[in-house]
Amino acid sequence: MHAIVCIKQVPDTTDVKVNPETGTLIREGVPSIVNPFDTYAIEEALRLREKFGGKVTVISMGPPQAKEALKEAIAMGADEAILLSDRAFAGSDTWATAYTLANAIRKIGDFDIILCGKQAIDGDTGQVGPGIARQLDIEQLTYVFKIQEIDFQAKRIRVERLLEEGREVVETRLPALLTVVKDINQPRYPTIMGIRRATRTEIPVWTAADLPDAKPELLGLKGSPTQVVRVFNPPPRSGQIVMIEGESPQEQAAKLADLLLKEKVI
Ligand SMILES: Cc1cc2nc3c(=O)[nH]c(=O)nc-3n(C[C@H](O)[C@H](O)[C@H](O)COP(=O)(O)OP(=O)(O)OC[C@H]3O[C@@H](n4cnc5c(N)ncnc54)[C@H](O)[C@@H]3O)c2cc1C
Repeated sequence: MHAIVCIKQVPDTTDVKVNPETGTLIREGVPSIVNPFDTYAIEEALRLREKFGGKVTVISMGPPQAKEALKEAIAMGADEAILLSDRAFAGSDTWATAYTLANAIRKIGDFDIILCGKQAIDGDTGQVGPGIARQLDIEQLTYVFKIQEIDFQAKRIRVERLLEEGREVVETRLPALLTVVKDINQPRYPTIMGIRRATRTEIPVWTAADLPDAKPELLGLKGSPTQVVRVFNPPPRSGQIVMIEGESPQEQAAKLADLLLKEKVI
């Protein structure tokens, strides 16, 4: 079994600030972490390896400091890690990010399953996982809450997806790309041995030259069809508070229901 996990290093905050002139995220002065959803993807890959044997490779596209995120994955137990880092990748939108990661995965080759987080807490689009699956022309299973069954010999997988309306059970063939939600597991903490191994591990860095099949015009800002037209903070919502009085909870509930009907909320 070979699982590839895509992880992103993100600012350690959900209060992301955007430079209004350039439209890019302000990362200076904000400590970085592994995107929290990606730690669940790492954990799930490690559990698959514990059950079926094989290896877990972790990849990330980002600046040189993203090595720290990869080392954290090694400390958790991942076998190998690769950083994709090159000025040519800078300015990538979600399409170019997925294109670059897919090319790297194609080069790694011989994988059974790819795991991603459901979304990154900075970009928040949730597009990169499905984008990679599309680029590689493999099945995609998003918002996975549980792997019910997986058979690497028969190349089949059945998962439960967590949707707003409930849960959905889907079965498909492998290789497949899964994006996972945080209810799927409880990520482990790195062990002392793992941290020692991570400290010793040299993370290979792949540049654009290491991806000869990736077309240079499709990388980085050049290869990004998204254009940020304007970045702004929406004005704070205004509203008013209405206290519903009543002799009993029943009376208060009835008044509330009348009010909601009147406002056409229900
Ligand atoms: C025009 C434009 C220019 C941009 N320029 C830059 C830039 O210069 N630098 C920059 O950092 N961002 C840049 N961005 C933001 C960038 O598009 C996104 O941060 C990035 O593509 C990932 O999208 P997301 O954060 O929405 O991830 P999501 O799609 O929400 O992430 C889902 C999952 O995909 C995987 N994933 C996402 N990104 C990566 C990654 N880099 N490596 C490995 N796995 C990953 C993870 O498993 C993650 O949980 C730019 C965006 C636009 C529109």
